[in-house]
Amino acid sequence: MIYRGHVVTPTATGWAAWPDGRIEVDGGLIRAAGPWHRANRYVDLRPHLLFPGLVDTHAHVPQLPICGVHPEDLLTWLRKWTFPLEKRFRGDRARDLTRRFMQEMLAQGTTTAALYTSAWPDSVEACFAAADEVGIHAWIGPPLMDQGAYRPVTTKRVITEARVLAALDRPKLRFAVTPRFALSCSEDLLEACGDLALARELPIQTHLAEQPEECRAVRRRFGRGYVEVYDRAGLVGPRTLFAHCIWLTAADWRRIAHTAVAHCPTSNVFLRSGVMDWRRAQVARVGFGTDVGAGPDLSVFRVARMAWTVHTLAGQSIDAGKLLRTATLGGAAALGFDDVGSLEAGKAADFIVLDRDHVIPAGAPTTESIEDLLSRILHRSGRSAIRQVYVAGRLVAEREARPSSS
Ligand SMILES: [Zn+2]
Repeated sequence: MIYRGHVVTPTATGWAAWPDGRIEVDGGLIRAAGPWHRANRYVDLRPHLLFPGLVDTHAHVPQLPICGVHPEDLLTWLRKWTFPLEKRFRGDRARDLTRRFMQEMLAQGTTTAALYTSAWPDSVEACFAAADEVGIHAWIGPPLMDQGAYRPVTTKRVITEARVLAALDRPKLRFAVTPRFALSCSEDLLEACGDLALARELPIQTHLAEQPEECRAVRRRFGRGYVEVYDRAGLVGPRTLFAHCIWLTAADWRRIAHTAVAHCPTSNVFLRSGVMDWRRAQVARVGFGTDVGAGPDLSVFRVARMAWTVHTLAGQSIDAGKLLRTATLGGAAALGFDDVGSLEAGKAADFIVLDRDHVIPAGAPTTESIEDLLSRILHRSGRSAIRQVYVAGRLVAEREARPSSS
């Protein structure tokens, strides 16, 4: 199948755009992408924009129902709103809400994600099944907890369940070893997580240094700094993805260089956590995370815009191309998926169709540069601009038809 439209994609060195372009898809993969040349049969998506599917490197599947309410400090928010919600996330309820989450994520243009389920094993199975059904790439893991857990568990039971669930791991859908955060784990559990990830070559995802009070509590409990707690358990390495990374020292950043970072500025503003140091973070592979339910929704475009806002105000201005690269190829690199994140030959045919009329206002100059186009996409895209979403060449989400396209 061939798709014709305005193709916009990051490349190894920068960005490419073909106003009259094509994507050729075969067997779920992109066979070629570039300028249009004659073909007899094709799907005509002109004048709309064809853009890579977005990558969300941090979201909690059970938490969608609390998005946008209860902006309290982190530890209160977890205890009062999050844990009670996750406690009920199991069985048919988990299966139903996971499918809805997946459909909403696709409608927001996200086709690759790193996800936390609830601590219940059947919510992990539900998430693998739902992700498999739509064909996305993902990391999936249950938040492992043996301290202050919302269900009766022992350390042994938590790690035994994780070992069983790790059998779900496969190339496109990775089982991620997911110690929730240091305060939810005993030292024994953290070490067992490090051992499991090492033995099975599994990725690791967790939270790091989101709020000052959390960091102080970690030091009180473990008698050492946050990064050192994870390091001693064997949890700091090239397959590790840390969310937030706000309250870190220069030495901490040096220690977590070559790991991956999920940057979650909408969540960080909502819970008043602080602003991550963008420049220092460049020692790691950085992607964007919506961090639903502390983030308001599953829009990676919104997260990229918030990054533009907070870092511009903090004197670290970032151009639109770099931010959109972080939302696509950057996130893919953070998760170690080298076959998604751009529209290039050999990659999965994961792409979104952005409504041109929505992104570029009528009457705009026709002589705009690619930088201007990327700025428009960054500042004007969101759920309502997304007409269609394709995963592995299959149409998986479509905006309802409207009487007017403006
Ligand atoms: Zn989180």
